[in-house]
Amino acid sequence: MDTKALHTISYGLYIVTAKKGERFNGQVANTVFQISSTPPTVAVSINKQNLTHEFITAGKIFAVSVLAKEAPLSLIGRFGFKSGREVDKLAGLNYKLTGKGLPYIPEETLAYLEAEVVQTVDAGTHSIFIGSLTDAAVLRRGEPMTYAYYHQIKRGTTPKTAPTFVASHVEPLSGAGTPRYRCTICNYIYDPAQGDPERGIAPGTPYEDLPGNWVCPICGAGKEAFEKV
Ligand code: FE
Repeated sequence: MDTKALHTISYGLYIVTAKKGERFNGQVANTVFQISSTPPTVAVSINKQNLTHEFITAGKIFAVSVLAKEAPLSLIGRFGFKSGREVDKLAGLNYKLTGKGLPYIPEETLAYLEAEVVQTVDAGTHSIFIGSLTDAAVLRRGEPMTYAYYHQIKRGTTPKTAPTFVASHVEPLSGAGTPRYRCTICNYIYDPAQGDPERGIAPGTPYEDLPGNWVCPICGAGKEAFEKV
């Protein structure tokens, strides 16, 4: 069996939000899909470990922001590589509320959907939440972000809790002496021994000597997102 066959399946990229009491949370998901049109019904697959899973289970409702192709990796990093248990992912973000009061992201997105959970399917590590559409709007015209575009063009990474995660990332070994720095958003490690040749950073360049506008090659976060390891 060649599981690489799974890599030929196409997906979009979305921010799924939910609430528990007065608290909001959201996460990136690629497995959002329409199931039927009468009544309009959508589904999303969410890892049971994620806070968003807890919130959807509690609130019985979820919202989906459909990311535009131009959405920055920093937005995806905010929702895809941090846990709502540690940070308020919506803090400082310009979000608006759907009809039943769930946050959606009006910038960098094409549309939002809101759905009430009508069925939850246990799928092992994940739950599939099936929801009946209760609110939806098109925010602007444009092309949606696809999972392939995110990985191939934007060179994004995927967290372990994603349904489509493949354990293939190997951390580079450190050169002796100069410290390595880890991106706190996506876990990319800047290794001075390797540099970042694709961006003109020669091997042997210490982190301190990277230009101020250098960003994480994986998630696009700035130097301030890095910490010494
Ligand atoms: Fe990063």
